[in-house]
Amino acid sequence: MLEIDWNNIFLKDLDLSLVVEISIRTFIMFLFVLIFLRSSGKKGVRQLSIFEVAIIIALGSAAGDPMLNSESAILPSLLVFVVILAMYRIITYLSAKNENIETLLEGEPMYIIEDGKFVLEEAGDSNFAKDEFFAEMRAQSIEHVGQVKTALLESNGQVSFLFFDDKDVLMGLPIFPKAYQKKSRNINDGGEYACAFCGNVLRIAVPQTCPRCGKDEWVGAIGSLRIV
Ligand SMILES: [Zn+2]
Repeated sequence: MLEIDWNNIFLKDLDLSLVVEISIRTFIMFLFVLIFLRSSGKKGVRQLSIFEVAIIIALGSAAGDPMLNSESAILPSLLVFVVILAMYRIITYLSAKNENIETLLEGEPMYIIEDGKFVLEEAGDSNFAKDEFFAEMRAQSIEHVGQVKTALLESNGQVSFLFFDDKDVLMGLPIFPKAYQKKSRNINDGGEYACAFCGNVLRIAVPQTCPRCGKDEWVGAIGSLRIV
């Protein structure tokens, strides 16, 4: 019979003195984390670059151990803090001086949409999640790709949009689910269709492959203006 030692799982050696010790350790370490984050010069954490996430992970591990493990002392973990902070400062300094180092650490912004169409190299990039990107566009109340002049995926994961003026809005691939109906077979009305893959818009009367990307799924294009 498998014996589960619930006492070991939930309590271990927990007694009053350990409760007090853990409370003091956590209080101190939490203060240090706050002081560290303030002194890193970073204003907020809404969007973290990969480099900053790496720092947070290293920091979290160094801070967590002495919080609840009586065998870990606080000073060695402070040393970890100091080294990480020094590295953060040095690397930030270097990447401000040198663009190559910055690109290496933070990645490069990439063009997702240009002139109402998806940029081809990125449309097929498996690192780039189209669903997520569509959700981001919907959150910006973008109804179809033809409203967007340029979309840039920044290295911190944020997307920057540049919109067409109302008079320049193109016909485009809709991104709200109800309007997004794939019609690969029954194209016969000679209307304008958008390639579901690259956003290329064509007036077509018979099913065909997209001359731009070679795929053959079409969605009825729409040309509505942006509601702001
Ligand atoms: Zn296409």
